[in-house]
Amino acid sequence: MSEEVLGGLETLIREKVIYCFQCGSCVGSCPTARAIREYNPRRIMEELILGRWKEVLSGNLIWLCTLCHTCYEVCPQGVGISHIIVELRNHAAKMGLAPTEYLNNVKQVASTGWTSPLTGAVQRIRKELGLPEVDVGRVDEVRKLMELTELRRMMEEQLS
Ligand code: SF4
Ligand code: SF4
Repeated sequence: MSEEVLGGLETLIREKVIYCFQCGSCVGSCPTARAIREYNPRRIMEELILGRWKEVLSGNLIWLCTLCHTCYEVCPQGVGISHIIVELRNHAAKMGLAPTEYLNNVKQVASTGWTSPLTGAVQRIRKELGLPEVDVGRVDEVRKLMELTELRRMMEEQLS
């Protein structure tokens, strides 16, 4: 694990995760936990507190969160799990542990500016619903942002 990732994780735990007192309110309100038995945000915090970072970062659970922020609102300690999940994903991606499905999604954004393919069916349904035509003219700006944040380089390295 690189020093940068290790330092980032230590700070994350010292400044945020450590305040979790394991009440479980986040689990009770989490839509992902309701749908997927294995997903448990309280347990992710517990694993981090116990020092099992590698297991958390290399597993697929952190990628299941929908970032709905419900856990953030109900947490009596203001732990902010959704923000922690984003940081964990960033650290995992830096370590080359992002799932291929996510990297393919980044590739899709880099080529079209959209997170899902603009198929003929999508265009037809949009028209039927009276929605405006999709503007694909801003993809250069998206690519520039991806280059500035090094997201594109990371995606290309890991997919190659
Ligand atoms: S609601 Fe907050 S304090 Fe309670 S388990 Fe979840 S993160 Fe920890
Ligand atoms: S942000 Fe993630 S962990 Fe929090 S309630 Fe939503 S799905 Fe669950």
